[in-house]
Amino acid sequence: MLKNDQPLIFELSREGRTGYSLPEMDVPQVDLSELIPAEYTREEAPELPEVSELDIMRHYTALSKRNHGVDSGFYPLGSCTMKYNPKINENVARFNGFAHLHPLQETEGVQGALELMYDLQEHLKEITGMDEVTLQPAAGAHGEWTGLMMIRAYHEANGDTKRTKVIVPDSAHGTNPASATVAGFETVTVKSDENGLVDMEDLKRVVGDDTAALMLTNPNTLGLFEENILEMASIIHQAGGKLYYDGANLNAVMSKARPGDMGFDVVHLNLHKTFTGPHGGGGPGSGPVGVKSDLIPYLPKPVLIKRDEEYLFEYDRPQSIGRVKPYYGNFGINVRAYTYIRTMGPDGLKAVTENAVINANYMMRRLAPHFDLPYDRHCKHEFVISGKRQKKLGVRTLDIAKRLLDFGYHPPTIYFPLNVEECMMIEPTETESKETIDAFIDAMIQIAKETEENPEIVQEAPHTTVIKRLDETLAARKPVLRYTKED
Ligand SMILES: *Cc1c(COP(=O)(O)O)cnc(C)c1O
Repeated sequence: MLKNDQPLIFELSREGRTGYSLPEMDVPQVDLSELIPAEYTREEAPELPEVSELDIMRHYTALSKRNHGVDSGFYPLGSCTMKYNPKINENVARFNGFAHLHPLQETEGVQGALELMYDLQEHLKEITGMDEVTLQPAAGAHGEWTGLMMIRAYHEANGDTKRTKVIVPDSAHGTNPASATVAGFETVTVKSDENGLVDMEDLKRVVGDDTAALMLTNPNTLGLFEENILEMASIIHQAGGKLYYDGANLNAVMSKARPGDMGFDVVHLNLHKTFTGPHGGGGPGSGPVGVKSDLIPYLPKPVLIKRDEEYLFEYDRPQSIGRVKPYYGNFGINVRAYTYIRTMGPDGLKAVTENAVINANYMMRRLAPHFDLPYDRHCKHEFVISGKRQKKLGVRTLDIAKRLLDFGYHPPTIYFPLNVEECMMIEPTETESKETIDAFIDAMIQIAKETEENPEIVQEAPHTTVIKRLDETLAARKPVLRYTKED
């Protein structure tokens, strides 16, 4: 029995009860044992639950309510841009002409789909200021790896094989050093200064003729816009390295500033964040990569091109790093992103950026008196506060996160970035109303008060969920995912 008295589907089972009705058989029955060798067939029927259609409906509906999603409540998970996913995107992705395509269809028969992808690439070129875009990568981290492999191929083609190091600031997203390592580079960390920005002296110290690239997350994971980008670009370029822009958080700069104009050579975007692809729970993503002209030869192949009004995949790309994804990316997510860009238009995208930044600054200012603000300056789409003050009273940031569940909120990202003690990284996004934002702030302030007056209520939270606290290590390492029948 799960808590909340919801029986397991197996406990609901009654022999002979069915949730389906099939028409009378009008073909002769076949004995499968004559067709399938005995070694491949089971001896006994599986013990499946026998339940009515209504029971099964209620079972899955009840389970679905145990998920927290953007459609069920506020989700300020920093760096993840859990904004609303407009339902028009879903309608368009379900058009027969998109949803029922087969990936092996000949290009002549799918010109509309190719046009959409090509057009999306053109829009992303415009939004990022890059010269060419590939839609192949399936996620942000995949885009990072793809971009770094292109940088690697570029240096190798120039005979520049001593460039083995990728510089990554300590305020970068965690995937950056991981992608650099998987792409075969050694990661060199540069520190943040007291303002939370890349420490320029430290950067000058680590850069050299072995620098392959700098990977910059901007805004960084403290939600701060890096102020010295042009200087960084010139330092790295002078040393012969390439500049990589982690654009997963483009929600804060879109239609205001373009990585291409700042001197970046490669950028990836997360269409499942900024451009409203539904995400979380491991659903398909899309992490397109844009490059400047000198990296175009290394783009993954095939490359989608337009020739004489026809859309084609070009395979003859001798310097390409090769294919990075079967077919050509996650088409369904690209349809959603395209729909979003077209429904918003340039002015709409600019308003998104402005509102995302205003919402984050508003929330940061209202929370500042009640928590510690490690970097007291304007933030972009997200900000970082610290629960240091609460920790002195015996309440950890983890407890605050758990207590938020009682209010029906998904907690913010916690304990990241690593350079801020008892960190909470909060991203409200532009799609939330002032009422929702105020209600969340009020809940945070109440938790801060509880910490002073009645810390146990926070330390023992959550009080309203089906399961209280998991042993998170055990849950990750040895998850129990199967029902075991008791005899
Ligand atoms: C989310 C994110 C990533 C990783 O994207 P995935 O799609 O999860 O692989 C990389 N960088 C930043 C800044 C991000 O916010």
